[in-house]
Amino acid sequence: MTRMSIDEAVELIENGNLKTLGEMALKRKKELHPEGITTFVVDRNINYTNVCWVDCKFCAFYRHEKEDDGYILSFDEIDEKIDELVAIGGTQILFQGGVHPKLEIEWYEDLVEHIHKKYPNVIIHGFSAIEIDYIAKRSHITIEEVLRRLQAKGLSSIPGAGAEILSDRVRDIIAPQKLDTAAWLEVHKTAHKIGMRSTATMMYGTVETTREIVEHWDLIRKLQDETGGFRAFIMWSFQSDNTQLKQEIPQIEKRSSNQYLRLLSVARLFLDNFKNIQSSWVTQGSYIGQLALLYGANDLGSTMMEENVVSAAGAKNAMNQDEMIRLIKDIGELPAKRNTAYEILERF
Ligand code: SF4
Repeated sequence: MTRMSIDEAVELIENGNLKTLGEMALKRKKELHPEGITTFVVDRNINYTNVCWVDCKFCAFYRHEKEDDGYILSFDEIDEKIDELVAIGGTQILFQGGVHPKLEIEWYEDLVEHIHKKYPNVIIHGFSAIEIDYIAKRSHITIEEVLRRLQAKGLSSIPGAGAEILSDRVRDIIAPQKLDTAAWLEVHKTAHKIGMRSTATMMYGTVETTREIVEHWDLIRKLQDETGGFRAFIMWSFQSDNTQLKQEIPQIEKRSSNQYLRLLSVARLFLDNFKNIQSSWVTQGSYIGQLALLYGANDLGSTMMEENVVSAAGAKNAMNQDEMIRLIKDIGELPAKRNTAYEILERF
C-alpha cells in the first residue's frame, strides 16, 4: 500500500468529497477491524489538582495556586471516586492535573503506589507529557527517571493530552509556556522505550492551518514507525467558552461537524500504522460521535463518568454504557467493553 503524503492529505481535507472520504475511511477501518466490533472503555477521569502554572490560553479548567477554588484531592477523595468507578465495573482511571508548581516526584510516587496497592485491578493511565516534563524539571531528574519511578509504583500508560497541535508556531500562540513539539515527542518516545504504551491526541480548531494538522499526523506517524508505542489516536475540537484565547481572538469559530468528519476520515487513511481511532462524542455530541464510526473511528472512548476539563469550556455532553451500546448496534456493529490495552472484556 502506498503511503499517503502530506500534500495528498491536505488536498483530501480541503477538496475531497465527504461521502467518498467516509467510504474510504470505512473501508480502511474494516480492513483493520474485520470483526465489526466497536469498543468502549468504562473509566473515570480524575483530575487530582486543578492548580496549574502553564496558563494555556485555550483552557478553562485551571486555577492558580492562590485562587479560592484551586484544589488538590486528598487520597481519601481519590479513593471515593475509584470506589464509585469499581462499583459500576470500571477498569481504568485517566489521571491528570493541572501542572502543580510545587509537587515533586515523591508525591506522585506515593499517590500512584497508594492507588495501585489499594486497587490492583484498576489501570492507572495518567500524567500527560507536560506533567512528566515538569516533574522531571522540578525534581532535578530526567524524564526517563520520572517514568521509570512511576512505572515501578504502578503507572501503566500515559495519555496523549497536551499535544494540541504539534507545531511550535501554533503552540507559541495558544500555549506559549507549554512544552514544545520536540519535548512532547521525547516524553512519548521515552515512555515507549521503557515499555510503557501511550496514546496520541490532537486538539484542532484554534489558529492552525490544514497543513499544520497533517504535519502533526506526520510526526506521530513517524514516531509510531519507530516505536510502535501508540495504542490509539484521539482528536477533538477546541471548546472556547471561558477561555482566554476566545477573548484574545474572538473571530475563532466553533468548528463544524462536517470538518470533524472530514479530518477524522483523512486521519484514518493517513495514520496507516495506528490500529485504533477514537470518536470524540464528548465534544461532538452523541450522534456525530456515532456517525464518526462510519468515518473511520472504531472506538467510542470512555463512558466519562466524570469530565471536568472540556466541560469547563462548554462541552457538556453525557452518555452512559446503555446508550453507547444502543448507538453502536444502531449502525450494525457489535458493541464490546475493552480495557486500556484494547483487549475485549465483554460483548453485548
Ligand atoms: S491545558 Fe493542562 S497544562 Fe494547560 S493550563 Fe490547562 S491544566 Fe494547565
